[in-house]
Amino acid sequence: MTTGLLFRDDAYLKTATARVVAVDARGIELDRTVFYPQGGGQAGDTGTMVRANGERIAIADTRKGDAQDSVLHVPAPDAVRPDLGETLTLEIDWARRHALMRLHTALHVLSCVVVAPVTGGNIAPDKARLDFDIDMSLLDAARIEHETNALIARGVDTETVWITGEELDARPELVKTMSVQPPRGVGRVRLLRIPGIDLQPCGGTHVKNIGEIGAIRVLRIRSEGKRNRRVEIALV
Ligand SMILES: [Zn+2]
Repeated sequence: MTTGLLFRDDAYLKTATARVVAVDARGIELDRTVFYPQGGGQAGDTGTMVRANGERIAIADTRKGDAQDSVLHVPAPDAVRPDLGETLTLEIDWARRHALMRLHTALHVLSCVVVAPVTGGNIAPDKARLDFDIDMSLLDAARIEHETNALIARGVDTETVWITGEELDARPELVKTMSVQPPRGVGRVRLLRIPGIDLQPCGGTHVKNIGEIGAIRVLRIRSEGKRNRRVEIALV
């Protein structure tokens, strides 16, 4: 079952109404959703679904379902299950999601300060990290922090751009992340452009203007194996 991914066109949607199309032991599927499912290193959303009678269903996590663009909303263990066909009001935990959006967009900027292949990444509400295939001696926390914050201070608007799979194949330099294949829709690939700073395939949620990130600090840099150097950041 395909779910309408409302966050893909508007990452700032905090609420929507949706209809229940499937319920099983793993979770709840809807005809459309504002909940971002864990993917591309970004944590899945949490929040609440409100029934017509006011009853609240706590959502503890959001995951991708089996089918392309299907989303599984994972209720808290003690939450009631909605009925098939029921209409619910969705509310994401916006403070948490906004922190994820700010940190996620910050990683795009960071990937332009540390110029090396990205081998992995993760975005949690309180911190985010990128792993680089780079020599440790080339990583200086103070310099990375200063240069990333200088780019953030430009305050430019981000843009979502769609290209075809063929166009992406013709420009392999756009794919920085070696371990994650870019999200592909029906013949289309979604890119995030930060004018003058970054352009890369990404299916995550981003802030409208990088100034919204505020500033970051480097929490630590450590070695995670022979070709893996992990740079961990948090919002200031
Ligand atoms: Zn992104």
